[in-house]
Amino acid sequence: MVIRKLMALIFLMILVSCTTTEVAPESQTMALLEKAKALRLRGEKVEQSLYRKKDSIEGLSAGESVRRVQERSNFVNIAKISDDFVFDMKYATKDNFLKKQVYDCAKCLVRDEVAKALIAANNDLQKQGYRIKFFDCYRPHSVQKKMWKIFPNPGYVANPKGGSIHNKGAAVDITLVRSGGGAIDMGTKFDHFGKKAHHAYTKLSKEVLANRKLLRTTMEKHGFKTIKTEWWHYNFKSNQGYKISDFRWDCD
Ligand SMILES: [Zn+2]
Repeated sequence: MVIRKLMALIFLMILVSCTTTEVAPESQTMALLEKAKALRLRGEKVEQSLYRKKDSIEGLSAGESVRRVQERSNFVNIAKISDDFVFDMKYATKDNFLKKQVYDCAKCLVRDEVAKALIAANNDLQKQGYRIKFFDCYRPHSVQKKMWKIFPNPGYVANPKGGSIHNKGAAVDITLVRSGGGAIDMGTKFDHFGKKAHHAYTKLSKEVLANRKLLRTTMEKHGFKTIKTEWWHYNFKSNQGYKISDFRWDCD
């Protein structure tokens, strides 16, 4: 477009210099200067729009690098950053549905963003005389495969093909305890694979229903969501940037 206009301008100049016109030389110069100015402005506009496009492309790649950083976001050992939780890591014992110890030692690892949300939820609960007790946190993908082999029911154990949010370090299995550590009745034990553990199941005492509701509303307030079948399981909603992992933690 710019080139075509420049050529037109040159043609016009040649034409003007070759023809005798009635127009005074001064006004001819003025007209040419106006044309040149218009072309220069047009060129600047094109340049600006190119810069805008470049900025938006760089903006996109900046967004991608943010996602990459999130993917690398660290796993943290939650016991190292807060003393206010209680731990009863069932898969580091034989007291679980596998009847096997599948972790070498008891540790609760989650993504740092998830840890922050859990601490905020626990702070809320502490004000009401309760605390969060963990049963399971990050779970290596290979352990997920073992669980699926023993209990291939997608209502309770995620198919390792797609993986579990536990494998991403963004799901936790938890219950409430009193501030002093005393047990709270939640209606069933952890890993009770039956209707009684469902959120929709209401043939429970008022106390149990209130306990489940307190846990659910607090966790939902801090960015977690439930699954239908397990009152103890919570997924951190913003887990899309996290990949399925399969490392084992150090036991020191
Ligand atoms: Zn779970």
